[in-house]
Amino acid sequence: MPVPPEQLLRATAHSWGLQLDERQLAQFAIYAEALVAWNAHTNLTTVTSREAVYVRHFLDSLSLARFWGDPPATLADLGSGAGFPGLPLKILRPELALTLVDSVGKKTAFLRHVVALLELDAVRIVTGRAEELGRNPYERERYDLVTARAVADLRVLVEYGLPLLRLGGRLLAPKGAAAYEEATAAARAIALLGGELLGVEPVDLPGLDSRAIVVVRKVAPTDPRYPRAVGLPARRPL
Ligand code: SAH
Repeated sequence: MPVPPEQLLRATAHSWGLQLDERQLAQFAIYAEALVAWNAHTNLTTVTSREAVYVRHFLDSLSLARFWGDPPATLADLGSGAGFPGLPLKILRPELALTLVDSVGKKTAFLRHVVALLELDAVRIVTGRAEELGRNPYERERYDLVTARAVADLRVLVEYGLPLLRLGGRLLAPKGAAAYEEATAAARAIALLGGELLGVEPVDLPGLDSRAIVVVRKVAPTDPRYPRAVGLPARRPL
């Protein structure tokens, strides 16, 4: 008999030192149901079975919490799509002030829907580009944590993310097997933007290929030239 997804979620999170109570498990169940239902008419994710949603979306997102250092008060999730990894981290830690950013309106429409369903507060949803957020003086240098999954190459992500971090804050980027090469290729960009590579941390997810989380810390203010105008970071990575 396969393990039911709720049980797998609770047990795997527990093995990482993360406790989920009944309310949190109920929120994940509502989230999974909403995702599968919306996906039937709007393409949000290629992951469609409940089991896969629990592992590839929920557990993969929660695995970041092991590497965030001191628990963060503020999180910006860039290119959040259907909410990953930002929303599972918010469910894990309801005190987080969360900003979800995606340039595509149908994605942020789903995010509004699911945030209301889950009765989450202190969540801000921005339809726009990560570069615009990073160039806004009210947003720069203020987040404890920035995350981005499956959005861009690490050289591009650090230009999106490092300007938003306060000194000492962290950027967490979950990656596949290419994590190590991407981290090496991004060394120059990380230094240029005021970051420091803390590590590339392997993560084991039940039944999945190897994953690793790139952990970057902000150690110096980012030059106001960065991020460059919308589109440039991806077209001409640092
Ligand atoms: N993070 C989610 C979605 C990944 S798909 C997950 O892991 O499941 C990538 C998403 O990033 C898309 O929804 C796309 O609209 C968004 N995106 C890509 N570049 C962006 C940018 N520069 N600013 C904001 N959103 C961006």
